[in-house]
This record gives sequence, C-alpha cells and structure tokens, in this order.
Amino acid sequence: MRIVVAGAGLSGAVIGRLLAEAGHDVTILESRPHVAGNCHTERDPETGVLVHRYGPHIFHTDDAEVWEYVNRFMRFRPYRNRVKSTVGGQVYSLPVNLHTINQFFGASMRPDEARAFIAARAEKIADPQSFEEQALAFVGRELYEAFFKGYTEKQWGISPSDLPASILKRLPLRFNYDDNYFSHRLQGMPEQGYTPMVSAILDHPAIDLHLETAFDPDTSGAWDHVVWTGPLDGFFGCRLGRLGYRTLDFEEFRADGDWQGTAVMNYGDASVPFTRITEHKHFAPWESHAGSVLYREFSRACGPDDIPYYPIRMVAEKSLLGEYVALAGKAENVTFAGRLATYRYLDMDVTIREALDCGRALVEAFATDGAVPRFSGAPL
Ligand code: UDP
Repeated sequence: MRIVVAGAGLSGAVIGRLLAEAGHDVTILESRPHVAGNCHTERDPETGVLVHRYGPHIFHTDDAEVWEYVNRFMRFRPYRNRVKSTVGGQVYSLPVNLHTINQFFGASMRPDEARAFIAARAEKIADPQSFEEQALAFVGRELYEAFFKGYTEKQWGISPSDLPASILKRLPLRFNYDDNYFSHRLQGMPEQGYTPMVSAILDHPAIDLHLETAFDPDTSGAWDHVVWTGPLDGFFGCRLGRLGYRTLDFEEFRADGDWQGTAVMNYGDASVPFTRITEHKHFAPWESHAGSVLYREFSRACGPDDIPYYPIRMVAEKSLLGEYVALAGKAENVTFAGRLATYRYLDMDVTIREALDCGRALVEAFATDGAVPRFSGAPL
C-alpha cells in the first residue's frame, strides 16, 4: 500500500518503520527541518555540547521490549535523573525524599519517623480530585507550598485547585535517600542523542522522508492510508476551535566550566519567573566540554504559531476533544497516533509502546482486510 505518515517524531518513525518492514511504501512528511519532534537533539557548534532543543528528554521505562527497541537503533548510556529544587534561597533534593524532608524541617529523622511525621501533616482528604487536594493529602501544606504550588502555577498557568490530580501522580514520595527522579528500572540516554536514533529508525529503503514539507490533510484521498501524528485539531483546520496547550520558551545562556553543577535545577518559588534551568552538558556525563549551554525554561499559553507541549485537558478542552474525536471517527483512511494526535501527556516510552502496538495493528489490518485502528493507545 502507499502510506503517508505526517510527522517524523517518535510515533511517526516507529509506525513508519513497521509499515516499511511489512513491505509497504511509506512516505514521511515532516514540516520541521529535522526529525525526532520535540526530543530533537543537536550539537552546539561552539561548545560541542549535545543540546536538547525542545527541553530535556530522559529515557526511562519498565517496558523491556521498548528498551530493546531503542537500543537496537542507538547505544544507550547509563543516566540517572537527579533533580534539585531551589526554594527560598536553599537547594533541596527532589523528588521529595527523606533528605528533602530532613533538610526542609531541619531534622534527622529515620524512615519510620519521617513517615509518621508526614502522615500527621498530610490532610485527610478521602478521594483527592485536584492537584492541590492530591498534594495536601500526599505531603501536607508546608511541602506542598514549597515544592509544588509555585512551580505548578508557573508551569500550568492556573491554580493547582483546578488541575487534575493525575499530574501530581507522576511524582513519587520516598522515605529513604533515593533521589532518582524516576522509579523505572531501565533508564539511560542515547549516546549520540535522540535525533540520530530517530534517523536510524527511519533509515529503511521503503521509507521516503521529506523534511520541511507539511502534509495537507485535504490530500488524504490520494493515499491508501494516512498516519497523522500532528495535533488532532490541526488535521481539521481547527474548525471547531483550538485544543489548549502550554508552550515553552527557552532563554539560552552560556558559561565556562560548570555553571550549576547538575542537569536540572527547578525553581519552586512563584516569584522566580522560570520553572527550571537545564545545563545540557550534564545530560551526557560521559562527555567533557569546556563551555556550557543552559536554558531558562518559561511556560505560557500556546498561541496558534507556537509549538504545543503540554495538553491542558481541563473540562472545556475535554468537551472540545470529544467533538474532534467524533470528527476523527469519520475520517475513513486516517489513523491518529502519538502525543499531539491523541492530545495526551505521554512519556517517550509510552509513545513508543503505543506506536509499536498501533503499527502492528495496521500491518495486521492491511494483511487481513481487518479493522484499522483510528487512534493509537486506549480509546479517547
Ligand atoms: N512539579 C512541581 N514541582 C517540581 C516538579 C514538578 O510542582 O519541582 C509538578 C508540576 O505540576 C509538573 C508535574 O509535577 O507539571 C510533573 O512534573 P514532571 O517533572 O514529571 O514534569 P515534566 O518534566 O514532564 O515537565
């Protein structure tokens, strides 16, 4: 079959590769001048530092098949994400762990003591609905206000009492000194960056890749099948309105040597306008560079010409999403795949898992004339 894939990020590359390996002719159109979507990495010509152009991406998973898949295309180096947070002029360890609790309360508690101490502070909220309720039930008011409230207001632009609890559920709370930001067993960084990894996935004789070429949804009829990985509303020309996103602005600055001593420094105070500073050389600790490239990261509402990052998914967005899902149901020969096309906050490993499942389902459907998946992942 002649298949067009719109977008050469993780979803488009993984699905395109599976279709190509199954013997289909795959054309991939990417509007940007590079592959890999928002996990694009590039060497800074002046310092040689590998820069994560759209913000930090750290690979972590418990999915052995996904881990094997990425390692097939690029060697991964061990990497542990250890995040710090500056709050009120002091530096603390994240995620909230025994060190954070002892630092914050000026104590030297052991695990069971800290557990009882936090349990006494945590607010009794039976079924926390909002981010704020979840945080108060989780760590109590002091830690919530120090580490989560200001950061979350800056990141999402709305009160944590209006945000879903699911966002906080991404973060662990530990009563030991484990400061590994992620709890997944398998973690690492692609040795040469994500862009060469995605280029290797796309390197197949049956894949024809065109950069700086946007796919026009009105031409869908010219193809046997379309895999759309752009924004769901964008496929329909945003005719029902725009789905809300947060976008990020990066203010780059340079330094000699080591500017902040770590890859990610969060800023919990609402009075600091940025959410975090990333020092990119520390994402590749096996390399050594004299110069350093850093990003101050600012979050704001995403306008029509901005790059969408985080789906907002509040009540209004969910109802508009429902309307677009209904429209998508009528788009006969189209599969909507990945973070933007399914309007979800997806980590890279989940994106790849869903792309593998979706690509295989497409291969199977084309071989047996069976039902073609409309969306990657669980039904929206
Ligand atoms: N968060 C916070 N304080 C922090 C780090 C995270 O309040 O220091 C909250 C914030 O709302 C954020 C969410 O936890 O959106 C998830 O954080 P994560 O680090 O997973 O965000 P990402 O790296 O995906 O932006």
